[in-house]
Amino acid sequence: MSIPARGYAVLDPKKPLEPFSFVRRDPRANDVVIDIKYCGICHSDIHQARDEWGGSRFPMVPGHEIAGVVTRVGANVKKFKVGDHVGVGCMVDSCLACENCEQHLEQYCLNGMTGTYNGKERDGSGVTQGGYSNTIVVREEFVLKIPDSLPLDGAAPLLCAGITLYSPLAHWKAGPGKRVAIVGLGGLGHMGVKIAHAMGAEVTVLSHSMKKADDARRLGADHFYATSDPEAFQKLRGHFDLIINTVSAAQDWNAFMSLLRTDGALVVVGIPEEQVPVNAFSMIRGRISLAGSLIGGIKETQDMLDFCGKHGLTSDIELIPIQKVNEAYERVVKSDVRYRFVIDMKSLG
Ligand code: NAP
Ligand code: ZN
Repeated sequence: MSIPARGYAVLDPKKPLEPFSFVRRDPRANDVVIDIKYCGICHSDIHQARDEWGGSRFPMVPGHEIAGVVTRVGANVKKFKVGDHVGVGCMVDSCLACENCEQHLEQYCLNGMTGTYNGKERDGSGVTQGGYSNTIVVREEFVLKIPDSLPLDGAAPLLCAGITLYSPLAHWKAGPGKRVAIVGLGGLGHMGVKIAHAMGAEVTVLSHSMKKADDARRLGADHFYATSDPEAFQKLRGHFDLIINTVSAAQDWNAFMSLLRTDGALVVVGIPEEQVPVNAFSMIRGRISLAGSLIGGIKETQDMLDFCGKHGLTSDIELIPIQKVNEAYERVVKSDVRYRFVIDMKSLG
């Protein structure tokens, strides 16, 4: 028997989200049924709800920062039991057989991972629907354990914002003696500051104005500069080992590459709508790398959650009822959130 679900959906990219009823699949033997308690609002939800990247499928229930409690497990489920605190991030399936999946890089599945929403179910049964809803059914391989020491509301954004920053920080070995810059202090960026600081790196925030300077220091940054100040680019030339750019709008990546030391890397995680021109001279100087990174694999996401559990790291959140989701979208676009909106699913009633 399929499971009735309620949430908020986008029916048309030009219209606000509205209440929506739908069904979740009849749980299979390897499925976990989750009562969703909280869901973060990621800027990617807004890009897709407004079809800014193209190819969006409607109706769309967005949401891929899901935290909740297990209410039912299939007969073959081994890792989870009723009552466990669990999370679901940006993907709910992949082929699990290609060379990337075999290396725990399901996000780069060569047959295409299945997004938590706006994705196509692998069995052809339709389009996936996300976490702005009361319940979800997910195969156990894509369910994460949230450490009991972390509150579920503050942990929800770890499932996307947390892993999206943890993965490149770990891959490019942020740690003691490394100078790391985080560009853009939003949902992703503020988790980057907390995680890079906990890893032992020297952390600098590059923000578009001075408004968030005090917050950045409180979150764990050692230094703060406004990118609107051209002198900052003079002063920081050749300074960083790693720069992670989380900004959702197009910027001059060449200017950021000039801030890297020899062999440094500019890692792009923010996804602007526009193409960004890159000059070869920006890269040949100092054997600079320009790289990108997409969320993280399931094993790495669990490592990140355990790391956050150990260090007591959660997101700074503003908890909202689901009825305020459209207002929250407007505020995210204006960078008016400190630092992640999280929907309290109790408000669905
Ligand atoms: P967010 O909370 O809106 O944060 C983005 C930050 O970028 C803002 O707080 C602001 O920081 C800065 N910013 C925004 N507009 C700007 C502009 N016009 N010029 C300069 N700076 C601007 O968004 P988010 O949820 O962190 O997501 C950021 C981006 O990452 C989005 O494009 C999202 O789709 C993408 N994303 C990628 C992945 C991945 O796997 N690669 C995963 C999740 C999200 P300051 O005020 O400090 O300048
Ligand atoms: Zn996201």
